[in-house]
Amino acid sequence: VACVSREFDFYYFVQQWPASYCDTKRSCCYPKTGKPAEDFSIHGLWPNYKDGSYPANCDSDDLFNDSEITDLESRLEKEWPSLACPSSDGMRFWGHEWDKHGTCSQSYLDQHSYFKAALDLKNKANLLQALDKAGIKPADGKYYSLESIKDAIKEATGYTPYIECNVDATRKYHQLYQVYMCVEASGSEFINCPVLPHGRSCTSQIEFPSFSHIKPSHQE
Ligand code: 5GP
Ligand code: 5GP
Ligand code: 5GP
Repeated sequence: VACVSREFDFYYFVQQWPASYCDTKRSCCYPKTGKPAEDFSIHGLWPNYKDGSYPANCDSDDLFNDSEITDLESRLEKEWPSLACPSSDGMRFWGHEWDKHGTCSQSYLDQHSYFKAALDLKNKANLLQALDKAGIKPADGKYYSLESIKDAIKEATGYTPYIECNVDATRKYHQLYQVYMCVEASGSEFINCPVLPHGRSCTSQIEFPSFSHIKPSHQE
């Protein structure tokens, strides 16, 4: 994707539900630091335009440099773990996200501020608590209405999220996979989404699967 000089308009802040990443036919691998907690984790903070398009890979002269985020590493390991195979310590995922998306936010956030902003947004959203307050708890074989999930997050954060679903490998049910929230360009405040993302949609009743008994399909 070509480098564009036009500033972006807002971010999608995307969090993933680890059980739904792991229970598809593609499988997953736990990070070297161990199985993540049963909580949402960060996928990325993605600069976007109001027309739905987005910039990517904006600066090949400022690629990921782990020495800039050493003080954030223990938080990143917990809150931004990588579940892709082969298992890794997270650096590859963080590096990918910075190089592809973070470099497009540089006029507002340098590397350290970018990762710090994402961690702070995750705390602020506190999705697991928002759902729990509404009685929506991870469980297998139990279905919640998509509306009740969106309402619970709106009630707790003030903003309606976009929910992306995927399909579990064994039971073939739609399940909560990712939650998109919109954030203004400085990276600290949620806003109403100017345009909805293209993530795969959900049926009206979806599963919010448990992560506690999931095992990675293969570890290396
Ligand atoms: P990646 O680049 O993350 O390896 O692959 C991303 C692609 O995998 C996306 O285009 C997405 O459509 C697809 N995908 C959809 N659901 C899942 C899932 O639950 N787990 C994984 N690993 N990939 C998925
Ligand atoms: P997927 O096919 O998994 O939905 O998306 C693949 C990748 O494309 C994402 O991991 C992300 O890097 C990028 N992407 C997909 N949709 C959007 C979008 O609406 N905005 C931005 N900024 N990036 C996106
Ligand atoms: P995107 O380009 O869609 O922002 O990020 C997806 C890329 O990050 C894919 O290449 C995928 O393999 C890698 N990745 C590593 N760990 C994870 C993870 O835990 N979740 C997701 N969705 N992608 C991951």
